[in-house]
Amino acid sequence: PLVLGIETSCDETGVGIVRGTTLLADAVASSVDTHARFGGVVPEIASRAHLEAMVPTIDRALAQAGVAATDLDAVAVTSGPGLAGALLVGVSAAKAYAYALGKPLYGVNHLASHICVDQLEHGPLPEPTMALLVSGGHSSLLLAPDITADVRPLGSTIDDAAGEAFDKVARVLNLGFPGGPVIDKWAREGDPGAIAFPRGLTGPRDAAYDFSFSGLKTAVARWIEARRNAGEEVPVADVSASFQEAVTDVLTRKAIRACTDEGADHLMIGGGVAANSRLRAMAEERCAAAGITLRVPRPKLCTDNGAMVAALGAEMVARGRGTSSWDLSADSSLPVTEPHVPAHGHLH
Ligand code: ATP
Ligand code: MG
Ligand code: FE
Repeated sequence: PLVLGIETSCDETGVGIVRGTTLLADAVASSVDTHARFGGVVPEIASRAHLEAMVPTIDRALAQAGVAATDLDAVAVTSGPGLAGALLVGVSAAKAYAYALGKPLYGVNHLASHICVDQLEHGPLPEPTMALLVSGGHSSLLLAPDITADVRPLGSTIDDAAGEAFDKVARVLNLGFPGGPVIDKWAREGDPGAIAFPRGLTGPRDAAYDFSFSGLKTAVARWIEARRNAGEEVPVADVSASFQEAVTDVLTRKAIRACTDEGADHLMIGGGVAANSRLRAMAEERCAAAGITLRVPRPKLCTDNGAMVAALGAEMVARGRGTSSWDLSADSSLPVTEPHVPAHGHLH
């Protein structure tokens, strides 16, 4: 099926077009620069930016794919989780286009989309799929027997998300926002073994699949403060590399443990932090050693985009999942256990 996907859960206006598991277009307009001076995403600014970017980004995606809107088989949209006002812009646009074109509408889950996008890169997902989802708002290990209908959380962060930790450490280092890409860059020049930062929740009595990054963030901030108080220069590259090493060490260790425990022979990593070069390299190494096949989409498909929404929408169509109704709304806290929002099937 030819499906258009719209993503507006945060600060990226993403519109993607796929045919089944083939990527035809991936247009993204970001308002990230306008948020940078505030050190984080400002919801009202994001909503307004989505409103301005929506139609031009849809037009760009259609042109890129070389298809007409009337050729589409369905329109999919992120209905949650995310910023309520931002989500509403995408949901409203999707409803307008679907209704005007006479095409079915699918409200889908942003987190399930971050996993399903890998079908565009590596073909159909194995069933079940073991996924490590690491982004600005989430850090979870998920087992998905069916990405369109059955997603089970094995564990998640008890405090900060991995991406949030990157963003906060970058702020302490005065590296700007978002922090992930800058720390990734600095870390390449640094020594990952320079500073021994703590690995949260890795003790023998800690929950096997839960994460904690708040202690790590505090440890990094204290270390930097001590340096500054002593009037010494802060070695940005070494701090970045050592912090990044601590995050990726814990993430890969627990993900591989989950695969081994559940008998999964592959691991999918998705979400914005999956764009991290060290995480990709370490996961590659450790998966190979454990006999696990690693699936990570290219970096551009890891951060928020519309192609991932189209990918999940296409899977919904292929599997005959129910469409959403015209009263579909945004749900800022849509649980990961609900990959899509069928008509009248969702109330909480
Ligand atoms: P969520 O999916 O939880 O709603 P999100 O919508 O904020 O999160 P994503 O695009 O999925 O957005 O992820 C953004 C996060 O990924 C940010 O915290 C950013 O710092 C982080 N990130 C992006 N690139 C990298 C990288 N190369 N290394 C580490 N982190 C990165
Ligand atoms: Mg973003
Ligand atoms: Fe995201």
